[in-house]
Amino acid sequence: MDYRKRLFTHRKLYDHTGTETLFVKAAKCNVAFHRKHCSEYAVILADRRFRFKQMKTIDDLYKIPVLPTLYFKSHRIHSIPEKKMLIKATSSGTKGKKSHIGFDAKGLFYGAFMVLRTASFHKLFSLKPVNYILLGYKPDKNNHTVISKTAFGATFFAPAIRRTYALKPSPEGYQLDLLGLKKALLRYSRQPVPVRLIGFPSYLYFFLTELKKAGLQLHLPKSSMVLLGGGWKQFYTEKVEKDVLYALIEEVLGIKEYNVKEFFGAVEHPIIYCDCKNHHFHVPVYSRVIIRDVNTLLPVENGKVGLVNFLTPMVESMPLTSVMTDDLGILHDGKECGCGLTAPYFEILGRVGVTDIKTCAAGAAELLGGAQS
Ligand SMILES: [Zn+2]
Repeated sequence: MDYRKRLFTHRKLYDHTGTETLFVKAAKCNVAFHRKHCSEYAVILADRRFRFKQMKTIDDLYKIPVLPTLYFKSHRIHSIPEKKMLIKATSSGTKGKKSHIGFDAKGLFYGAFMVLRTASFHKLFSLKPVNYILLGYKPDKNNHTVISKTAFGATFFAPAIRRTYALKPSPEGYQLDLLGLKKALLRYSRQPVPVRLIGFPSYLYFFLTELKKAGLQLHLPKSSMVLLGGGWKQFYTEKVEKDVLYALIEEVLGIKEYNVKEFFGAVEHPIIYCDCKNHHFHVPVYSRVIIRDVNTLLPVENGKVGLVNFLTPMVESMPLTSVMTDDLGILHDGKECGCGLTAPYFEILGRVGVTDIKTCAAGAAELLGGAQS
């Protein structure tokens, strides 16, 4: 029985209770596959005294040994030959340390199911052609970051008339084209088709701040949207809350808050999370999130702060079954949200022990700062 297939073709996106047994079975099969095909992983399982018979219910998932995201940045570990991997992507580490992640054909196929189900649940599909503004990198052969691939992928939810990028490759590296972006936006605002802006919250925030300073107040065509991704880490220091950005979006672009969607993803955990109408990331059936005590690494109850651990049996290319991030977060009971979804939702609070967070998004802020001076 292919439990992974059953899980990824499950019809209800947020049906946790209906998929508990299935998830445990799929996770066990996934661990068994990696143990058989990846000798480093087999050693890790043996070291941590992992036993399949301990895995009975969903509450036993925490017993699967975790691999820290940092591990993938310093090790190339895989369960199928690298040349057989279909898509290879890297994280956007700014200090040269990157995770190299690849997908097996079936994993990618199930990933496509996940994307379709997620995009259709959150009403991202449209047959109406749109103009896209991408607040990120124009993909090219030298750029394999997940963020540039997913941003580009998101331009297929609705047929594209044009795509305009904030950052364009040049012989001197990527160049920020703020003026070009502004011109494109003005041109699009006069056309009768919706506009979709896609990118990091930081890029969007700085771009909109510039437009506001220039006195711009647009009313983009109805059903225009903003799709955000890549995290808010830079805002821990900028102290910009989501509400402030939503207000700015409405003020400058005329796009209402309900047409602002945010995505969450981590390169070492290839599951897509899309926020609900209250802007919370509920956990879909394809994954489970465990929050662990910082000292004991044991699971904490919902509502308590701890290290964020993501689990999914999606890929057989690499042992990504249970991945420990270095982020602190909280898991909440689904019903606390009030949007109607009962699946739990998580909140990322920040990175452990890092005072000057240096991410690709912070790099974006520097780039924008440099461009203004
Ligand atoms: Zn919700």
